[in-house]
This record gives sequence, C-alpha cells and structure tokens, in this order.
Amino acid sequence: MPTTNDLQVSALGLGEMGRALAEALVKAGHPTTVWNRSPGRADALLAQGAREAATAGDAVRASGLVVVCLLDHPSVHEVLDPLAADLAGRTVVNVTTTSPDQARELAAWAAEAGAAYLDGGIMAVPSMIGTPGASILYSGSSAVFEEHRALLDLWGTSTYHGADAGLASLYDLALLAGMYVMFAGFAHGAAMVAPSGMKAREFAAMAAPWQAAMTAAFDGLGEVIDGGDYTVPGQQSLLFSDLGDMVDASAAQGISTEVVAMVQNLIRRQIDAGHGEEGFARIYESIRNPAARA
Ligand code: NAP
Repeated sequence: MPTTNDLQVSALGLGEMGRALAEALVKAGHPTTVWNRSPGRADALLAQGAREAATAGDAVRASGLVVVCLLDHPSVHEVLDPLAADLAGRTVVNVTTTSPDQARELAAWAAEAGAAYLDGGIMAVPSMIGTPGASILYSGSSAVFEEHRALLDLWGTSTYHGADAGLASLYDLALLAGMYVMFAGFAHGAAMVAPSGMKAREFAAMAAPWQAAMTAAFDGLGEVIDGGDYTVPGQQSLLFSDLGDMVDASAAQGISTEVVAMVQNLIRRQIDAGHGEEGFARIYESIRNPAARA
C-alpha cells in the first residue's frame, strides 16, 4: 500500500480554486496530474512538479482519485459524461459548487458509472487553502472520506456530514445565506451613516467588532429554536425588537429600507399573530412558514 503522500491524484479544473487545491497536493508530495480546458493555467504547477494531461480522459486514467473543481454543475457533466466508462472503479471528489439536488444527481450519476463519490463545499477563498482558516464540508461516500481524510486535510479542516451527497452543498449554502444577509446589513448601515459624512471604511471599523460580538447570541437563539418554546424567560421580546424606528430612520436618510424592512416583516408577522411578548427567536417561525402558506 502506498503511504498517503504516494497516492497518485488527478485534478480537473485549474481555475483560481482548482490551482490552489492542486498546489497543496503537489506541495505535500502527491504525484499529481492536472488538466484544464484552456491551456496555460498549469505552468506554475508544472514548475512545482505536477504533470499535465493533454485531455481530461488522460487525467482521469492516470489516477484512482480524481478531484473535480470546475465552474458549475453543467461544466462537470460536460467534462465527465464522455468519461463515464473510464471512471468505473475510481473515486471522484467533486468540490465544484452545486445545489444540493445537483450534488445528489451527480452522486447518482457516479454510482451508475461505478465510481465512488464524495461531494465537497469549500468554505474558503483560494488564498486560504492549506491554512487553518479554511474549512471544507463533505457528504456522500463515508468510505471515501475516511480513506482520503489525510489528503482532504491538506486543504483545510475537513468535516463529514452524511451519506446524502446533497448535505455538504446544503450546509455550504446555509452558511453563505447568513454571510450575505450580514454583508447586506453592513451595506445598509454604511448607507445609513453616509449622509452624516462617515466613510464606509470608518463604519466598517465600528461594525466589525460589534457584529463579531453579536454572534455569541447564536447559541442561545439556537437553543430556544430547538426547544420550540419562545416564552422561555430572559429573551428579548418581539415587541421590544420592533424595527419601526430603524425603518423610519433609514427612510429619513433617503435610502432604501429593503434590508431592514425584510427583518421587520419577519417580526411583524409574529406580532400580528399574537406572539409579541415572545422571544425574538420566533422570527424563525416566519421563515419556516412562508407568508404564502400561513
Ligand atoms: P474560476 O477561476 O472561474 O475557474 C473555473 C474553472 O472551470 C476553470 O478551470 C475553467 O476552465 C473551468 N470550466 C468552466 N466551464 C468549463 C467547461 N464547460 N468545461 C471545462 N472546464 C470548464 O473559478 P474558481 O474560483 O476556480 O471556482 C471553481 C469552483 O470552486 C466553483 O464551483 C466555485 O463556486 C468554487 N468555489 C470557489 C471559491 C473561490 O473563492 N474562488 C470559493 C468556494 C468555492 P477554463 O480555464 O478553460 O475557463
């Protein structure tokens, strides 16, 4: 049996992320075969010891383990579909961003082709790959995750979330949902203070420690949501959380109220349903039960 770093790996896709992943493999000593649709993207990797395959098929046939990091779900099919026969008996680790259902579809397609399949959701930008800040979520074949754990850890912290190949993508997108709404909140605050003369970077310096400190509340909110009892004492009530002043102040600054009105709508639906004295965590129920279904 080869030791982990003797393991031959092929990497399909040398975009920004694919190059970072391949470089970590090469640096760790893995014999690495790389392929990219457009020429010229492998140069730095070749200088570090990677081999370049002329075709995706040559790359797949070079290794038992094939790492796929392409643009999206259609590009993965475009590259892999003609290679189904070659993939039989091999392992595919696909870290291309897809939807949960697309990941499930790829897992089923790989099973049909006779390939083992692990799906990954990368919680990092390319410069973070190989650093402690990088995290990659996995789901699909637990056997692949266990067998290649040491290799996966070269990229960042690896966590396995279950046999359903769609879960890594689901959790990836759920985390990104929180991030984008937070960024929208920052942009809203920056727009709110702009008429006062404050620059967005000055506001950023105020907002970053405040937002970071507020994440300490997640655990308590999660405990209440999991318990399902929004009357537990000690919570900030929905009536106390009413954002009417925030919406009005935003309008008075002449800016869009969309971001704060979105949160206000979640709060108001619970207040209007008679839950105003209950905890703010109850906005979860507005999300779980969309207005159209209420
Ligand atoms: P990128 O720099 O735009 O690279 C895209 C790669 O996909 C290139 O290698 C491109 O080849 C290839 N490609 C696109 N369409 C193709 C097709 N039809 N057939 C064959 N190859 C095709 O993107 P990236 O940043 O590397 O991202 C790759 C994946 O990682 C994406 O799914 C992305 O969502 C995910 N991801 C990226 C980041 C990030 O911060 N960059 C973070 C998390 C996850 P060419 O060179 O020939 O165009």
